[in-house]
This record gives sequence, C-alpha cells and structure tokens, in this order.
Amino acid sequence: MLQASEVEIFREFIRKRGLRYTPERETILREIFKIHDHFDVDELYLRLRNQGYRISKATIYRTLPLLIECGLVQEVYHEDGHMHYEHIYGHEPHAHFRCLSCRRVEEFRDERLEEVAREFQEKHGVQIKMVRYELLGYCAACRKEE
Ligand SMILES: [Zn+2]
Ligand SMILES: [Zn+2]
Repeated sequence: MLQASEVEIFREFIRKRGLRYTPERETILREIFKIHDHFDVDELYLRLRNQGYRISKATIYRTLPLLIECGLVQEVYHEDGHMHYEHIYGHEPHAHFRCLSCRRVEEFRDERLEEVAREFQEKHGVQIKMVRYELLGYCAACRKEE
C-alpha cells in the first residue's frame, strides 16, 4: 500500500479520539490488510498467534469497532453466531451474495446501492459511513442439486 496508508489513517483516528495507540492495535491492522478475503476473529487470532504474536481475542474484539468506525474495515455477514469482516480501504464498495447451502460468498458491485445511500443521506440529513447489502439464497450449483 503506497497511498495515505491505513496505518496513518488509524493513527490519526486514535489520536483524535484521545485513545492510546498500542503496537498490538497496529499489528492487528497490518494483519487484516494482508488478508484478501473475508475473515472472522478466530482466523485472525490464529494467524497472529502462528507468527508468534501474543494478542488476545479480547484485544481483537476491542480493536475491530475502532477500525470499522474509521472506515478501514467493515462487517460483512453474520454466520454461526459470529461476525465476518473484511478490509475495505483501497477497495471499491461492493455487496455480497451468500449461498445458504454451500456457504460460498460472492462479491458484486452495483453503483445503484451507493445512489440509494446518497439519496437517503440527503433526504434524512444523516451521515452514511458504510453500505452493507447482502443477498441470501442458493447458488447455481446448489440449485441444481435440489
Ligand atoms: Zn451453493
Ligand atoms: Zn467482500
């Protein structure tokens, strides 16, 4: 990553919030930007542990909302009782289709979704930080098996 890096953005956010910037938080952030897929906390925890970092799940759970709030990471979907995430900074906004049978997740992009968000924002005077759009159903392969 060469442009205004995710680390700089996060540092600035933490500073403005008057929070403490810790090496653990930065390690979590850097690892998230190495994962080019959706992930959950267990997966992130294991990746960090396998590299010798001793960062607790509690620390990860406390750091994720901060990364979401500053627009670097988003929640993608909830499955098996826990949330799945992805980093979004540096990526085009996109939506997801999720197969209820094989659990395959496909990404797609449609500018109309952002238009809807923009319209809502103007009409209601709110500030939209993130658009989450999810389609649930059966993928083409699973439909055939029925
Ligand atoms: Zn399927
Ligand atoms: Zn995605």
